[in-house]
Amino acid sequence: MSGSFLDRFKKGLSRTRDILNADVGDLIRGRRPLDEADLEALEEALIAADLGLPVVQDCMEVVRARSAEVWTQGAPAMRALLKGELRKALTRPATASPFQARPWVTFMVGVNGVGKTTTIGKLARAWQREGRTSLLCAADTFRAAAAEQLQIWAERTQSPFHRGAEGADPSAVLTDGLRLAISRKLDAVLVDTAGRLHTKGNLMAELAKMARVAGREVPGAPHETLLVLDATTGSNGLAQAREFTKAASVTGLVLTKLDGTAKGGVAVAVVRELGVPIRYAGVGEQLDDLLPFDPDDFVEGLLGE
Ligand code: GDP
Repeated sequence: MSGSFLDRFKKGLSRTRDILNADVGDLIRGRRPLDEADLEALEEALIAADLGLPVVQDCMEVVRARSAEVWTQGAPAMRALLKGELRKALTRPATASPFQARPWVTFMVGVNGVGKTTTIGKLARAWQREGRTSLLCAADTFRAAAAEQLQIWAERTQSPFHRGAEGADPSAVLTDGLRLAISRKLDAVLVDTAGRLHTKGNLMAELAKMARVAGREVPGAPHETLLVLDATTGSNGLAQAREFTKAASVTGLVLTKLDGTAKGGVAVAVVRELGVPIRYAGVGEQLDDLLPFDPDDFVEGLLGE
């Protein structure tokens, strides 16, 4: 893995930063009092970065209140104000850190195509670097291709793998997977779940049943339920995300494909909207392209020079 997490955030967020910095920078270069037109331009830039209206409004309030300071101190003062607001919006109380139970059971939920399977492969690799072995469990029995995809990641990361027959009860597959992990004294189980079932009601019932089953096999499981969101869909994914937070007790978010979007600000919008912290960020398709999410690094990547 090359470069610090901050460097990699900067690289991953370069498209968003370019837009935001160009606009914010242009506005302040003149070192004159901000007028209404400036404020409107700033608001537009923040909206374009997909920060979400509530956060944009908070930012604008602070900038308005302290526009004299921005005037005398220029762009660095403006950046500092915005960074402070974004950091505040992104920071949530820490959730449980992995491996306080064995096996540490993580459910990966989210609609198809957002990057659940890829994220499981990346997490297995990250944990493997720490000397932890994860079992990859394909509980999406709805799509055979999903299990095959997960198996490829298991092979790539040389991780144990468990799947059931196509159409099998996901909870039964999960039970077997958990028992296998217990008998082999593995550190973690990463569970790929179906992105979609016949109806929403089904999906909710299925995830709830899986959580019950997991808790029966391993006390406290699932220890984490990570909702995976695709940053390229920006705030359009929010309605769907809300459905998932209703269906499963989501403890954290994974924001994927930050590398492919100029709408990286959506990270701020989703945390504000869903009230759970981002745990990891996906910044590419390769195994090492997963970063532990840190609000400071993220904000620096978004608004740093
Ligand atoms: P799933 O259906 O939710 O399991 O999604 P997949 O894991 O199969 O991923 C769907 C597509 O998104 C694949 O082509 C992945 O390579 C791609 N992908 C996943 N995460 C990232 C990321 O962080 N950055 C980029 N650029 N692509 C990603």
